[in-house]
Amino acid sequence: MPDDQRARAEAARGFMPIDEGLALHAAASAAPVDGPWLEVGSYCGKSALYLGYAAEARGATLFALDHHRGSEENQAGWEHHEPDLVDTDIGLMDTLPIFRRTVFDAGLEGTVVALVGDSTTVARHWSTPLSLLFIDGGHGHEPAHADYDQWVPKVAIGGVLLIHDVFPDPADGGRPPFEIWTRAIESGAFDEIGVTGSLRTLRRTGVGQ
Ligand code: SAH
Ligand code: MG
Repeated sequence: MPDDQRARAEAARGFMPIDEGLALHAAASAAPVDGPWLEVGSYCGKSALYLGYAAEARGATLFALDHHRGSEENQAGWEHHEPDLVDTDIGLMDTLPIFRRTVFDAGLEGTVVALVGDSTTVARHWSTPLSLLFIDGGHGHEPAHADYDQWVPKVAIGGVLLIHDVFPDPADGGRPPFEIWTRAIESGAFDEIGVTGSLRTLRRTGVGQ
Protein backbone atom coordinates (compact mmCIF):
# COMPACT_ATOMS: atom_id res chain seq x y z
CA MET A 1 0.00 0.00 0.00
CA PRO A 2 1.54 3.36 -1.00
CA ASP A 3 2.72 5.46 1.98
CA ASP A 4 0.40 8.42 1.35
CA GLN A 5 -2.66 6.16 1.15
CA ARG A 6 -1.59 4.22 4.21
CA ALA A 7 -1.15 7.43 6.20
CA ARG A 8 -4.57 8.68 5.18
CA ALA A 9 -6.27 5.40 6.08
CA GLU A 10 -4.47 5.27 9.43
CA ALA A 11 -5.56 8.82 10.23
CA ALA A 12 -9.22 8.17 9.39
CA ARG A 13 -11.58 7.98 12.30
CA GLY A 14 -12.55 4.52 13.52
CA PHE A 15 -11.56 1.47 15.52
CA MET A 16 -9.67 -0.71 13.04
CA PRO A 17 -6.07 -1.47 14.10
CA ILE A 18 -3.33 -0.77 11.54
CA ASP A 19 -2.31 -4.41 11.03
CA GLU A 20 -5.91 -5.41 10.33
CA GLY A 21 -6.38 -2.48 7.95
CA LEU A 22 -3.29 -3.48 6.02
CA ALA A 23 -4.50 -7.07 5.88
CA LEU A 24 -7.84 -5.83 4.57
CA HIS A 25 -6.05 -3.89 1.84
CA ALA A 26 -3.85 -6.88 0.98
CA ALA A 27 -6.80 -9.29 0.78
CA ALA A 28 -8.72 -6.86 -1.42
CA SER A 29 -5.69 -6.41 -3.65
CA ALA A 30 -5.81 -10.14 -4.38
CA ALA A 31 -9.60 -10.41 -4.77
CA PRO A 32 -11.36 -10.85 -8.11
CA VAL A 33 -12.73 -7.71 -9.75
CA ASP A 34 -15.30 -9.06 -12.20
CA GLY A 35 -18.12 -8.22 -9.77
CA PRO A 36 -18.72 -5.39 -7.29
CA TRP A 37 -17.24 -5.28 -3.78
CA LEU A 38 -19.42 -4.50 -0.78
CA GLU A 39 -18.81 -3.66 2.86
CA VAL A 40 -21.55 -3.91 5.46
CA GLY A 41 -20.80 -1.32 8.16
CA SER A 42 -18.80 1.75 7.13
CA TYR A 43 -19.06 4.08 10.15
CA CYS A 44 -16.70 7.00 9.43
CA GLY A 45 -14.99 5.37 6.45
CA LYS A 46 -11.76 3.92 7.82
CA SER A 47 -12.18 0.40 6.43
CA ALA A 48 -13.64 1.92 3.25
CA LEU A 49 -10.29 3.61 2.61
CA TYR A 50 -8.30 0.39 3.01
CA LEU A 51 -10.72 -1.39 0.68
CA GLY A 52 -11.29 1.62 -1.55
CA TYR A 53 -7.65 2.23 -2.35
CA ALA A 54 -7.31 -1.41 -3.37
CA ALA A 55 -10.47 -1.09 -5.46
CA GLU A 56 -9.20 2.04 -7.18
CA ALA A 57 -5.91 0.37 -8.07
CA ARG A 58 -7.76 -2.60 -9.57
CA GLY A 59 -10.59 -0.78 -11.32
CA ALA A 60 -13.20 -2.25 -8.97
CA THR A 61 -16.12 -0.45 -7.31
CA LEU A 62 -16.76 -0.64 -3.56
CA PHE A 63 -20.30 -0.24 -2.27
CA ALA A 64 -20.17 0.98 1.33
CA LEU A 65 -23.42 0.10 3.09
CA ASP A 66 -24.49 1.68 6.36
CA HIS A 67 -27.62 3.36 7.73
CA HIS A 68 -25.17 5.65 9.55
CA ARG A 69 -27.23 5.55 12.75
CA GLY A 70 -24.69 3.45 14.61
CA SER A 71 -24.82 -0.05 16.04
CA GLU A 72 -26.01 -0.91 19.52
CA GLU A 73 -22.47 -0.57 20.88
CA ASN A 74 -22.18 2.94 19.38
CA GLN A 75 -25.22 4.34 21.21
CA ALA A 76 -25.08 6.55 24.30
CA GLY A 77 -23.96 4.64 27.36
CA TRP A 78 -22.14 1.92 25.38
CA GLU A 79 -18.43 1.27 25.07
CA HIS A 80 -17.91 2.64 21.57
CA HIS A 81 -20.08 5.76 21.85
CA GLU A 82 -18.64 8.99 20.44
CA PRO A 83 -20.94 11.84 21.58
CA ASP A 84 -19.91 14.27 18.83
CA LEU A 85 -21.41 11.88 16.25
CA VAL A 86 -24.93 12.53 17.50
CA ASP A 87 -27.18 14.81 15.45
CA THR A 88 -28.53 16.76 18.42
CA ASP A 89 -31.56 18.07 16.51
CA ILE A 90 -32.95 14.57 16.19
CA GLY A 91 -31.08 12.77 18.97
CA LEU A 92 -29.72 10.09 16.63
CA MET A 93 -26.22 9.29 15.46
CA ASP A 94 -25.21 10.42 12.01
CA THR A 95 -21.85 9.30 10.66
CA LEU A 96 -22.71 10.00 7.01
CA PRO A 97 -21.20 13.54 6.85
CA ILE A 98 -17.87 12.30 8.23
CA PHE A 99 -17.89 9.22 6.01
CA ARG A 100 -18.53 11.39 2.96
CA ARG A 101 -15.76 13.81 3.85
CA THR A 102 -13.31 10.96 4.50
CA VAL A 103 -13.98 9.47 1.06
CA PHE A 104 -13.79 12.88 -0.62
CA ASP A 105 -10.49 13.77 1.06
CA ALA A 106 -9.07 10.41 -0.01
CA GLY A 107 -9.98 11.14 -3.63
CA LEU A 108 -12.12 8.00 -3.76
CA GLU A 109 -15.53 9.40 -4.73
CA GLY A 110 -15.26 7.72 -8.12
CA THR A 111 -14.59 4.32 -6.54
CA VAL A 112 -16.52 4.17 -3.25
CA VAL A 113 -20.30 4.40 -3.54
CA ALA A 114 -22.28 4.96 -0.33
CA LEU A 115 -25.42 2.89 0.12
CA VAL A 116 -27.36 4.55 2.91
CA GLY A 117 -29.93 2.24 4.43
CA ASP A 118 -30.63 -0.86 6.45
CA SER A 119 -28.53 -3.84 5.46
CA THR A 120 -31.47 -6.25 5.34
CA THR A 121 -33.55 -3.93 3.16
CA VAL A 122 -30.75 -3.35 0.67
CA ALA A 123 -29.84 -7.05 0.57
CA ARG A 124 -33.40 -7.96 -0.32
CA HIS A 125 -33.05 -6.01 -3.57
CA TRP A 126 -29.45 -6.89 -4.41
CA SER A 127 -28.86 -9.68 -6.91
CA THR A 128 -25.45 -8.99 -8.49
CA PRO A 129 -22.85 -11.59 -7.39
CA LEU A 130 -20.11 -10.04 -5.24
CA SER A 131 -16.37 -10.49 -5.82
CA LEU A 132 -15.67 -9.28 -2.27
CA LEU A 133 -17.83 -8.98 0.85
CA PHE A 134 -16.62 -7.43 4.11
CA ILE A 135 -18.95 -7.94 7.09
CA ASP A 136 -18.53 -5.40 9.90
CA GLY A 137 -22.08 -4.16 10.57
CA GLY A 138 -24.22 -4.81 13.64
CA HIS A 139 -22.44 -7.17 16.02
CA GLY A 140 -25.52 -8.33 17.96
CA HIS A 141 -26.81 -11.87 17.38
CA GLU A 142 -29.68 -10.91 15.11
CA PRO A 143 -27.96 -8.37 12.82
CA ALA A 144 -24.78 -10.43 12.43
CA HIS A 145 -26.67 -13.60 11.49
CA ALA A 146 -29.01 -11.61 9.23
CA ASP A 147 -25.99 -10.20 7.40
CA TYR A 148 -24.65 -13.71 7.03
CA ASP A 149 -28.00 -15.12 5.82
CA GLN A 150 -28.62 -12.32 3.34
CA TRP A 151 -25.23 -11.35 1.99
CA VAL A 152 -23.00 -14.43 2.09
CA PRO A 153 -25.04 -16.34 -0.57
CA LYS A 154 -24.26 -13.44 -2.93
CA VAL A 155 -20.49 -14.04 -2.82
CA ALA A 156 -19.45 -15.51 -6.17
CA ILE A 157 -17.31 -18.64 -6.46
CA GLY A 158 -13.72 -17.44 -6.13
CA GLY A 159 -14.92 -14.33 -4.28
CA VAL A 160 -13.44 -13.17 -1.01
CA LEU A 161 -15.36 -13.02 2.29
CA LEU A 162 -13.88 -10.95 5.12
CA ILE A 163 -15.33 -10.93 8.63
CA HIS A 164 -14.18 -8.46 11.27
CA ASP A 165 -14.16 -8.78 15.08
CA VAL A 166 -13.94 -12.56 15.13
CA PHE A 167 -12.91 -13.53 18.68
CA PRO A 168 -12.59 -17.27 19.38
CA ASP A 169 -12.07 -16.47 23.09
CA PRO A 170 -15.23 -14.92 24.60
CA ALA A 171 -12.99 -12.91 26.95
CA ASP A 172 -11.79 -10.90 23.94
CA GLY A 173 -15.15 -9.82 22.51
CA GLY A 174 -18.74 -10.62 21.51
CA ARG A 175 -19.77 -13.95 19.99
CA PRO A 176 -21.84 -13.20 16.86
CA PRO A 177 -18.97 -12.42 14.45
CA PHE A 178 -17.25 -15.60 15.63
CA GLU A 179 -20.51 -17.51 15.16
CA ILE A 180 -20.92 -16.39 11.57
CA TRP A 181 -17.27 -17.16 10.84
CA THR A 182 -17.97 -20.66 12.22
CA ARG A 183 -20.98 -20.98 9.93
CA ALA A 184 -18.83 -20.08 6.93
CA ILE A 185 -16.19 -22.66 7.85
CA GLU A 186 -18.76 -25.36 8.63
CA SER A 187 -20.59 -24.76 5.36
CA GLY A 188 -17.64 -26.31 3.55
CA ALA A 189 -18.04 -23.61 0.88
CA PHE A 190 -15.11 -21.46 2.07
CA ASP A 191 -11.39 -21.88 2.63
CA GLU A 192 -9.72 -19.66 5.18
CA ILE A 193 -6.85 -17.83 3.53
CA GLY A 194 -5.85 -15.30 6.18
CA VAL A 195 -6.00 -14.42 9.88
CA THR A 196 -4.80 -11.04 11.19
CA GLY A 197 -5.97 -10.06 14.65
CA SER A 198 -9.75 -10.32 14.56
CA LEU A 199 -9.94 -10.17 10.76
CA ARG A 200 -10.62 -13.43 8.94
CA THR A 201 -10.24 -13.79 5.20
CA LEU A 202 -11.97 -16.61 3.33
CA ARG A 203 -12.46 -17.54 -0.29
CA ARG A 204 -15.55 -19.19 -1.70
CA THR A 205 -14.61 -22.52 -3.26
CA GLY A 206 -18.09 -23.99 -3.62
CA VAL A 207 -21.81 -23.40 -3.30
CA GLY A 208 -23.64 -23.36 0.03
CA GLN A 209 -23.83 -21.13 3.06
N1 SAH B 1 -16.11 -1.00 9.12
C1 SAH B 1 -15.98 0.22 9.92
C2 SAH B 1 -16.67 0.13 11.27
C3 SAH B 1 -18.13 -0.23 11.20
S1 SAH B 1 -18.96 -0.04 12.77
C4 SAH B 1 -14.49 0.48 10.10
O1 SAH B 1 -13.75 -0.47 10.40
O2 SAH B 1 -14.05 1.61 9.94
C5 SAH B 1 -20.50 -0.79 12.43
C6 SAH B 1 -21.41 0.02 11.54
O3 SAH B 1 -22.49 -0.83 11.17
C7 SAH B 1 -22.03 1.27 12.19
O4 SAH B 1 -21.63 2.41 11.49
C8 SAH B 1 -23.55 1.04 12.06
O5 SAH B 1 -24.30 2.20 11.71
C9 SAH B 1 -23.65 -0.02 10.98
N2 SAH B 1 -24.83 -0.86 11.06
C10 SAH B 1 -25.23 -1.61 12.11
N3 SAH B 1 -26.36 -2.27 11.82
C11 SAH B 1 -26.69 -1.94 10.54
C12 SAH B 1 -27.77 -2.29 9.68
N4 SAH B 1 -28.73 -3.14 10.05
N5 SAH B 1 -27.81 -1.75 8.44
C13 SAH B 1 -26.84 -0.88 8.04
N6 SAH B 1 -25.79 -0.52 8.82
C14 SAH B 1 -25.72 -1.04 10.05
MG1 MG C 1 -15.14 -3.94 13.28
